[in-house]
Amino acid sequence: MDDLTTAHLQSAIDDGGTGNAEVVRTLEARLCALLDAPYALCVASGTTALICALHAVGVRRGDRVGVSALGPSMTGLAVAATGAQPVFIDCRPGTFGLSPDALSPAAAGPLKAVIPVPMWGYWDESPQLLADLRRRGTAVIVDAAQAPFLRTGPRSLAESADVICLSLHGRKPVKAGEGGACLTRAPELAERVLAMRNFGQRTRFTGTRLDPTGPYGGQPGANYKINALGAAWALAQTEDPDGLRARYASMRLRARAVLGRTGIAWREAPQGGDVIEHGGYGLVALCADAEAAARMADRLTDQKIEVDTVRYSYAPMHHSPCFAPRHTSTPAAEELTATAVACRLEAFPALGG
Ligand SMILES: *Cc1c(COP(=O)(O)O)cnc(C)c1O
Repeated sequence: MDDLTTAHLQSAIDDGGTGNAEVVRTLEARLCALLDAPYALCVASGTTALICALHAVGVRRGDRVGVSALGPSMTGLAVAATGAQPVFIDCRPGTFGLSPDALSPAAAGPLKAVIPVPMWGYWDESPQLLADLRRRGTAVIVDAAQAPFLRTGPRSLAESADVICLSLHGRKPVKAGEGGACLTRAPELAERVLAMRNFGQRTRFTGTRLDPTGPYGGQPGANYKINALGAAWALAQTEDPDGLRARYASMRLRARAVLGRTGIAWREAPQGGDVIEHGGYGLVALCADAEAAARMADRLTDQKIEVDTVRYSYAPMHHSPCFAPRHTSTPAAEELTATAVACRLEAFPALGG
């Protein structure tokens, strides 16, 4: 273990290891810089981040929340955990972006919130569509668990969304073991996330630093805090953010080269024209048909490269048994999941370029 990690871990232990430790506040400041958002709150997991964000934007039991049908069941499960109902939104054909037709009030009905999911780091949402949703009173929560490095412009991601949720799980690019974070530009949303996280306490703002204050139970809340030992580990990884981003960018180039050598035709999943930097996490190859995708997955598996779409047998979210009773049709998501091969970038580096 390097000296820096040791020092952060010691500081976390000296502070009692709780989510109120100084290393957690430092990690929050680091995440603010990484995602260009003024407020960040670390929580216990990516799932917890989604639950806190949904609560903060006013989602309550019985509300309907649109989720990208291409997201993992974890996203829909977080919606279900709040007592709200996930509504599965199809993608634009051949992209990870939400379909404007599927989101229209006629098709989707009233939605309290919508959750776009930049799967494997691919962002392909229409800024106009997100702005229209928010104008109509539908909150936008981005589940960026797989896209901590995503940068968009001219409106940054934090400007296009009410809350951005991160996972700091051990398989994600920034790792706390278990952990997550909510990022937002809106101080009132930050206050509500903090209350949810800290037993209903109030927020003391010191600049953009957020500390819990006052009695427990002033508002609804629970203990959704991160373990400071995990936060200390994550903090050490963010010590050189540009270096971290550059490492993931070079891992992507290497992953592309490995896919190129399979000899099977593929094209990379597209991203929106506003993307400045890919979100990290993975590489997605779209193949001509399901048979070609299966062959590509076999070639990679032969090279001992773990293929995420095989590991999870990738399919639209509502195929999960816990959502199965709903009769949802998402033809574009069916097509994309059948022809996509996706790998985490971390599956490649040990193999040589
Ligand atoms: C990992 C992941 C989650 C869940 O995050 P946890 O930290 O494991 O709770 C949610 N959404 C997406 C897109 C993920 O990749």
